[in-house]
Formats: sequence, C-alpha cells, structure tokens
Amino acid sequence: VEERILKKLSEIVESASIFTSKEELLCHSCDATRRSSLPEVVVLPESAEQVAAIAKLCTEEGVPLTPRGAGTGLSGGAIPLSGGVSLSLIRMNKIREIVSEDLYVVVEAGVVTEELKKTVEAASLFYPPDPTSLKSSTIGGNIGTSARGLRSLKYGGTRNYLMGLEIVLPTGDVMKTGARTVKSVAGYDLTRLICGSEGTLAIVTSAILKLLPLPEHRVTILAAYPTLEKAAEASHNVISHGSTPSILEIMDSLTVELISRNIALPPGVEGRSLVLAETDGFRDAAEKEADRIEKVFSDCGAMFVEKIAEQGAQERMWEARRGVLTALAKLKPVTVLEDVTVPRSRVVEMIRSIAETGRKHELLIATFGHGGEGNLHPTILVDGPISENAPRLEAAVMEIYETALSLGGTLSSEHGIGIEKTSFLKKEIGEFPFETMKRLKDAFDPRGILNPGKLFALDPGSRF
Ligand SMILES: Cc1cc2nc3c(=O)[nH]c(=O)nc-3n(C[C@H](O)[C@H](O)[C@H](O)COP(=O)(O)OP(=O)(O)OC[C@H]3O[C@@H](n4cnc5c(N)ncnc54)[C@H](O)[C@@H]3O)c2cc1C
Repeated sequence: VEERILKKLSEIVESASIFTSKEELLCHSCDATRRSSLPEVVVLPESAEQVAAIAKLCTEEGVPLTPRGAGTGLSGGAIPLSGGVSLSLIRMNKIREIVSEDLYVVVEAGVVTEELKKTVEAASLFYPPDPTSLKSSTIGGNIGTSARGLRSLKYGGTRNYLMGLEIVLPTGDVMKTGARTVKSVAGYDLTRLICGSEGTLAIVTSAILKLLPLPEHRVTILAAYPTLEKAAEASHNVISHGSTPSILEIMDSLTVELISRNIALPPGVEGRSLVLAETDGFRDAAEKEADRIEKVFSDCGAMFVEKIAEQGAQERMWEARRGVLTALAKLKPVTVLEDVTVPRSRVVEMIRSIAETGRKHELLIATFGHGGEGNLHPTILVDGPISENAPRLEAAVMEIYETALSLGGTLSSEHGIGIEKTSFLKKEIGEFPFETMKRLKDAFDPRGILNPGKLFALDPGSRF
C-alpha cells in the first residue's frame, strides 16, 4: 500500500486507528488455521460511514480489502491472502437496541457473541446461536461464516436469526436489507445471501437479530457406550423416537479422556464414548422430554445414564464440551480439524470409515461432533513436524472428504470454505452453481478487491 493511500486512509479514520507496525500486521495475518499472510495495513473503523469510505477507496485504487472479526475462523477466511487492508470490525461493538416487545436486537458487527447472549439473557431473552468459540467470535464473523453451535439442532444457526443487515458494498455503497418484522418476502433474500459469504460480497456493519423468550428450565442427560458407533446409534434413535433436544452431542473415548482432565466426569464413563443431550423449555415439558431421552439411551444399551439437573453442574459439563478443541490441541503439536456432515442415517458408516482411514494411514483420529445433526469433527492428531506427515495427512483428509460426499454429505458444515477447501467447492456443488456464485461475486464486487483468493481459487496449494 503506497504512502499516498495511507494518507487517504488517515483522512477517513484517525491515525490511532491505522496500524502498520510488524507486530500489528502479524496479529492480523492469521486465524485459527495454520496459514498466515501479512496485510500491509490494519484499519479499525468505528462507523459504517468510515467502512464505506475505506471500501470506496480500495475499489478506486484496486487495493485488496479483507474484513475481519475476532480471527477465530477455521478456514482461513480472515487471512489477507493478497496483502492490502485488514479491516477489523472489533471497535464497532455496540448493542444499539434491545426491543423486547418485538423480540429483536440491533447490534454492530464487532459485538462478541457471548456478550450479546449474556446481555439479552439479563432481560429474560434468548439469542440461541452458540458457536463454541462464543467467548471470542463476533456477530460479524458469525454472519460471515453462517456459524452454528451446540443448540443448532433445535434452534438453527446464525442464518435463522437474521431479520436484516446493514452492509457496505465494495463500491462504498451502504445498503440495508431485510426488515424489523417477523415476515418479509419483498424481493430476493439478500440478508441470507450475505450470511455465509465469508466476507467476499459485502462488509456487515450491523444486524437486526431475532430473539426468543429465555427457556425456563434445562436438563442435561449423559449416557456412556462402549463405542462411538453405539453412541451415534443412540443419538439417532433419540431423533427417530420423535424428540428434538436442544443439544445432542457425541464424542469418542479419546475425547472423553481429554475432557475428563478438566471436569470430574461420573465414574463409569472412563474409556467409554458419550452422548450428551440437553432439553429445554417449560419445566414440565423439559423434564418429561429428558425422561423420554433417558429411556431411549437405556434401551440402546447405555452402560451408564445420568440426568444432571443442577444448573452449575450442567454449565460445567457444557463448558467442558466447549473446551474439546483446546484439549485436543494440547495433546499433540499438530491438530487437523475436519467438519463433515452426512445424513443422520449415515453417521455410523461415516464413523466406521474415519476409523478405517486412521488405521490405514496409522493416524490418531479423535472424533466428536453434533451427532444430532450428522455433523462430525474428526480431528487428526500428529506429532510434528507437519511437513514429514504431509502425504498421509493429505491422503487421510481426502478419504474423509470422498466418503462424506459419497454418503450424500458435505465437507463444510459450519467452518466455511475460506482458503482451506476451495479446491473442493466446485466438486461438491457442481460447475453451474459454482459459475453462478462467481457471477454474483462479480455483481457485488466488480473489481474483485473484497477478500480475494477465498472460495473460488482452484489451486490454493497444500494445507500441509
Ligand atoms: C475453538 C473454536 C471453536 C469453534 N467452534 C465453532 C462452532 O461451534 N461453530 C461454528 O460455526 N464455528 C466454530 N468455530 C469457527 C469460528 O469461531 C466461527 O467461524 C466464527 O463465526 C468466526 O467469527 P470471527 O469473529 O472470529 O470471524 P473471523 O475469523 O474474523 O472471520 C471469519 C470470516 O467472516 C468474515 N467476516 C468477519 N467479519 C465480517 C464482517 N463484519 N462482514 C463481512 N464478513 C466478515 C471474514 O472475512 C472471514 O471470511 C470455532 C473456532 C474455534 C477456534
């Protein structure tokens, strides 16, 4: 970025919001993947007007512009691959309005997900999306990746709570989408087009998010099985018996062992795979549904079943579940986290195939995930260095992708395509949808300055 462009940026935001030091550039060069690429300048705007002026300048000057939230992404979306400007939205962090009687909230893009959830809970309201990164991730990043979370099974993900957006187009035009009403079908659904577009179409500056009344009561149910397949069968049976718990998670024995280092699990659980469920709603209904799930778990041959009613104990259990990735990352220097979903009835086949892949390539794979949604996170754990393991990692990951696709699944369930999976996008969705998406990109971003190198690059190089 030339000096004269830095000067123009300093006419838009105050100089304290522009960073060019090596330290700041490094902090904005990566996300939660292993990749990195330095931006040339980091800018922290505080209003939609400033974002618009920066975008306009970048389009006029042909400078790459990469929107960024907290940088917790797992697909490389916020990495400024082509240098240019890293546009961090974290200073736009105000919760502007909570409209209780109409059940919505208006927030700026940089609000941290957990802060929003806690703030509305204080008013007995509920914002359900809960990616496990919620202590750091931002609403803008959640919209960029269409994040889902533990409670998506019953409540859906970020996409389902968007009523409207304020976005800035790469050309600098500010646009409002959606409405403050429960219903609106006026024209194309631009709100949901932006959701999951990974910062390639527009920059989200604020959002109108739907709220629900806070559930009165929650019950957690835990069941242990001899294998992950059995745990997955039990989780599938819960759904086929007509229950919709708010959460339905599975984890294999290695994952259980790791989280048991952070939380005292009941005796009888060691060495087993787990299913964890949560019911919520009015007290009677949540208790009744929990009893029903407890029975399904027992009928499926559980070696141990426990209902956890005390709120603190429930929260500790879910906190431990949220810590799974960190616990895995502590075990080995290299963790390769995957994100495949298959139809629920094929989960057991997918689990068997992952185990077979591990055996074949002599790789340790821990598998956990949102069993109720058919979404698995097989995580390959290796002793570094990564370069020495690259061929078998590459082969194992390819096998996992191929199996997921052959079972009618997807290889990106909630982490996005970013840089990590660009070579697979066309294969999964097909040539014509791929080209249609590119035409949409051209319509929003005629000079291709917004987050270049994401989604569509056909050969992004090896991940390993
Ligand atoms: C430990 C851990 C657990 C995780 N658990 C989950 C999970 O349960 N579910 C899940 O879905 N994900 C999960 N993730 C992935 C990640 O947290 C989510 O993708 C999250 O939504 C990213 O938010 P962020 O603010 O960190 O965004 P960033 O990583 O900064 O950006 C993500 C993408 O969104 C774009 N973007 C960011 N802000 C904007 C904006 N204002 N306008 C337009 N585009 C924007 C970026 O360009 C990028 O493409 C997890 C990650 C980690 C490290």
